[in-house]
Formats: sequence, structure tokens, C-alpha cells
Amino acid sequence: MKITVVGTGFVGVVSAAVYSSLGNQVIGLDIDPNKIKSLKQSKVPFFEPGLEKLLIEQQRAGRLQFTDNYKKAISEAELIIIAVGTPSKKTGAVDLSYIFSACKSLAPHIKPKVIIAIKSTVPPGSFTQIKKTIQELTAKKFYLVSLPEFLKEGTAVSDTLHPDRVVIGTDNAQVFKKLAALHQPFKAPVVKVGIESAQMIKYTANAYLATRITFINQIANLCEHNQANIEEVIEGIGYDQRIGHHYWYPGLGYGGSCFPKDVKELAAYAKNHNETDNLMIQLDRLNEARIPSLINHWGKIVGGWENKQVAILGLSFKSNTNDTRESPASRIVPQLLSSGAKIKAYDPKAVWKPANQQNYQQVDSIKTATAKADIILVLVEWPEIINFDYSTIKVSKKQFMIDARNQLEPDSISQAGFSYLGIGRN
Ligand code: NAD
Repeated sequence: MKITVVGTGFVGVVSAAVYSSLGNQVIGLDIDPNKIKSLKQSKVPFFEPGLEKLLIEQQRAGRLQFTDNYKKAISEAELIIIAVGTPSKKTGAVDLSYIFSACKSLAPHIKPKVIIAIKSTVPPGSFTQIKKTIQELTAKKFYLVSLPEFLKEGTAVSDTLHPDRVVIGTDNAQVFKKLAALHQPFKAPVVKVGIESAQMIKYTANAYLATRITFINQIANLCEHNQANIEEVIEGIGYDQRIGHHYWYPGLGYGGSCFPKDVKELAAYAKNHNETDNLMIQLDRLNEARIPSLINHWGKIVGGWENKQVAILGLSFKSNTNDTRESPASRIVPQLLSSGAKIKAYDPKAVWKPANQQNYQQVDSIKTATAKADIILVLVEWPEIINFDYSTIKVSKKQFMIDARNQLEPDSISQAGFSYLGIGRN
């Protein structure tokens, strides 16, 4: 199949490389010439395990090209996959301007009966305007389909090659058949649903995972008032098969490029439809409040942040990615700096700095970041951070170790001379 993927950001590059690996002819299209230049040279502009290798293989096999030329990319395509960004506006509602702009650019060049699949996350109701935008610029027939993406950064290549399911939102049996055949090599359940169900499936999956994170944090807050340990609570509830042991992460709340914006978008959608006490609104509010309230709480225990030397370990939003969108550090560092702390930060892959860099420095080792630190804040569960031997750091005075992911062994950290603080962990 001849496929064009519009938008070669995180989702677009992974999709282009994976569809190409199935034997399709794929073109990745982006308006950012620097991104295209780098992709043409097989350089992935972000860190994702296994992606660069796959990209090189597919380019060598002659199945994968990149361009910023709409006419060249669109005119032969049988399937166009739109994977541009859909950020939240200030109101929380989705900003579809990148989608509309891509549709305006591609519409004049499409082949008759092309399938246009929207992989970007968009809310129910948005296809009316998307369809109209394309129809204003072409008389050719096209099929608009919802093809939501469920990959996780850090395991994106294997998630795309081995998805839990493929969701195809269309009411056209022929279009479904073609897309089901395209995804058949994945050997995953292919779910045929209506367009708006497909869009709701995507939001619901992320909102549910965000709810689990918020839920366990709420329970961890209660554990702080007694002798219960949240990790033991998780162990105990997990044996109930309706609950399970997986996906419980007491910590700093949810971050990254998807959960916060998808929950905000669903909350805005609820408000727009007069569902003013919808859980999504509360979920977003609790997540926004999570980091400021933890920083205040810890601040009281460590004797205030002013003039404290703080080591921040982990700048990405989770391990195995250098994506810093909505990362804990991007919210914590400005709050600590404005409280008068001095920060040395370390991350194995991510590079990030605050707008005001006074008293902030990113360094290249855990040792340098933690030297002379009054407080060490472990924000991301990178293996090199959680497996580091903290007993090798000289503890010359009272030092605090804040394990914001509950990943360290409290006893060994205490034996190394630190005052250990976790999340709901006594
Ligand atoms: P991104 O910001 O990394 O990439 C978007 C790309 O689109 C950029 O390279 C940008 O230059 C390009 N672009 C913008 N306007 C364009 C246009 N008119 N024509 C061509 N290219 C254009 O975004 P992302 O993280 O890949 O997310 C894309 C979509 O997929 C979003 O809707 C997101 O919610 C959804 N999604 C993301 C993930 C994830 O883990 N990142 C997972 C599932 C779904």
C-alpha cells in the first residue's frame, strides 16, 4: 500500500517506520524542514529505543522516504495518516488548528477515494469540520476514518508492532476491510467501531489510566496519616482480579504529552456539554494541585527550600524517553527556584532548562548533581538513577532523599545516612 504519514513527530515517525516494515511504501511528510533534513539522514530528532535502527533498515530497503513537499507526498497516496499535534488551548479544549492546516494543504492533491485516517487524538464531533475543510478544496471522494494511536513513549516501536488492539472507526465495510488487512500482520484484535466510539475509546483509555494514578495518590495521602504503607496496600488489593497489581504508580501525578492534555480536553468537553460535575474536571484539578502540594509538604519537613542545594534526578516525564513535555521537573524546578533553592539537575538522556536559569545547572552525572546536596529529589525511575549506590555519596550533614516514585529501598537509603521520604510509605 502507498501510505503518507502527515506529521513526523513522535507518533508520525514511529508509524511511518513500522508501516514501512510491513512492506508498504511510506512517505513521512512534515512542515518542519529541519526535522525532514535530519530524518533523511536517518537521524531521529528524539530518543526512542529501537527506532533509529528500524528507520535505517527501512530507508535502506527503499520503502521509506521523508519530504516537506505536499504535492509529492500526497498525489500517489492510497492512505493518508494524519499524526500532527493536537495540543490543549488555555481553556483546556483541543486546538485542532494543525489538523485543519494539514487538511487544507493535502486536499488539493488527493487521489479519488483516498482513505484519510486521523491518528491524532481528536474529540467526537470534530470530523464535521475536518470533512468540510477538505471538501472546500476538492471535489474528489475521500473516506475519513478514525485510527487512534495507543503507543507509549519508551516502548513505542514494540507497542506499534505488537499492539493490544487496533481500533478502526468507520461505518464503511470496504474501508474497514482494507485497513484491517493493513494491520493484519500485527496479529492483534482489530476492533471495528463507529467514528465517535473510536475517538472516545482513545480518550477513555487515557482518562482511565490517569484516574488510577490519581486514585492511588489519594489513597497514599491518607496513608501519610497512619502507619499504612501504600506499597503494602497495593500488594494486598492487587490479588483481587478485578483490580490487579499492574499500573499502580503512587507519585507525582501524571505527566507527559498525552494524559494531562487528554484529560483536560475531556474535562473541557464535559463542561461544554453541561456535565459540570464530571469526574474528568475533578481529575484535572487534582493533578494540577498534586506537585505544588507535595512541594509544600516536603518543604515543611526539610525546613524550607530557601538556600537549599537540591539535586534533581530525572528531567524527562518518565524513563526511556527524552521527552520533557509536562515532566515533573518542568513543574517542580520553577517552584523550587522561586522558593530560593539552588538546583543541580541530571538526566541520562533529556536536556531541559527553566525560563529563568539563575541558580539552575544541568550536570552530566549523578555524583556531580548530588555533591553537597541538602536534598536529593528522585523524579524519574531511570535504571541508572534507581540502581545508583547512594552509599558512595559522602553524607557530611543531614541530607534528605525524596523518592517521588517509591523506587528506592527505604532501609538501605536510611543506612546510607539519608532521611528517606517516599509517597505514602511508612
Ligand atoms: P509531535 O508534536 O511530536 O509531532 C507533531 C508533528 O506534526 C511535528 O513534527 C510538526 O512539525 C508536524 N506538523 C504540524 N503541522 C503540520 C502540518 N500542517 N503538516 C505537516 N506536519 C505538521 O506530536 P506527537 O507526540 O507525535 O502527537 C501527535 C498526535 O498523536 C497528537 O494528537 C497526540 O495526542 C497523539 N498521540 C501521541 C502519543 C505520544 O505518546 N506522543 C501517543 C498516542 C497519541
